[in-house]
Amino acid sequence: MQEKSAEKVLLELTGLPVAAGCEERVVAWVERWASSRPSVRVRRDRYGNLMLSRTGPKYGRPIIIEAHMDHPAFVVRQARGRTLRAEFRGGVRDAYFPDARVRLHARSGETCPGRITGFRPRTAKRRFPEVTVVLDREAKAAPGDLMTWDLPAPKVRQGRLHAPACDDLAGVAAALQAFDVIGRKRLKRPPDVRLLFTRAEEIGFIGALGACRAGFIPKTARIIALENSKSYPDSPIGAGPVVRVGDRATVFDHRLTYALGGIAEALAKRDKSFRWQRKLMPGGVCEAGAFVELGYTATCLCLPLGNYHNMNEETGAIAPESIALEDYHGLIKLLVAAATKLDAVDAPPSLRSRLNQLFAERADVLERPM
Ligand SMILES: [Zn+2]
Repeated sequence: MQEKSAEKVLLELTGLPVAAGCEERVVAWVERWASSRPSVRVRRDRYGNLMLSRTGPKYGRPIIIEAHMDHPAFVVRQARGRTLRAEFRGGVRDAYFPDARVRLHARSGETCPGRITGFRPRTAKRRFPEVTVVLDREAKAAPGDLMTWDLPAPKVRQGRLHAPACDDLAGVAAALQAFDVIGRKRLKRPPDVRLLFTRAEEIGFIGALGACRAGFIPKTARIIALENSKSYPDSPIGAGPVVRVGDRATVFDHRLTYALGGIAEALAKRDKSFRWQRKLMPGGVCEAGAFVELGYTATCLCLPLGNYHNMNEETGAIAPESIALEDYHGLIKLLVAAATKLDAVDAPPSLRSRLNQLFAERADVLERPM
């Protein structure tokens, strides 16, 4: 039952068209989701980032589960008949653009497929790569409209989700689902769990940086950033969610990472179907690193991702991203365990207390005269 509803949310969200700066469809989806839950409150900061919290008494330092709402995609700059000029906001290598199929999602609600006929890479003067697109037919396009790769709707095949935008809408889906499960638990001292959904991550964490500047995140919070991160042979898809220690640029808060690792290990002992991995995931950079750099306590949990940023390295063509459903369900379990165990009396001990305990138990071996 819980798995079914988690998959429904996943299938809906990972098919929504979004781009950095054009996250309105996800915002509307999340607000609708929240409005059917009377105890859930949604706030927006001045940059349009969302924070979800629950009414009623809460205990302990806030635990913020964070995910970004955008995905690499195009924004129309100019429209003349069937010919559009658009910029691409996100990290996709130049070779994937020529002749690729795209789809306009006009603000009027109209959608229309088209093809890239021209490509101009990013330069010192041009902050985003630009494309020329010829639409297959006449459509009402205007500057500011969103355009995505033309990819099939999300579908599940042999335990894998194939979708236009796993990164990071599968993170948003996991956060919402975990929030529901945590809310249903009758805990004596409910933890202060909140969800933060940011904008414009794909062009350099712009929404997250805005949230920090706006004072939208309590300084005492522990932030668990969720990501979909390029899978490597040593971080395979299907081997479980990843407790991510760092990224291509930096490492995250080592104490929070260690605590989540301990919680994952304990969960794997109780629940034989739960698997997890502890990895650095150097395929990209993550908002957790930005939060840590700005003085917050943050780490990351991520899903190993196939066709990262829609790049199929085998065919050299644009393709759906993919994740394992089992990893997604594992991530939800781990989030629920994290929220309920981080401050619990039976939480796994910190590294410091383990070290102290080891010394107390074994220091006698040093007593032999030398
Ligand atoms: Zn990304």
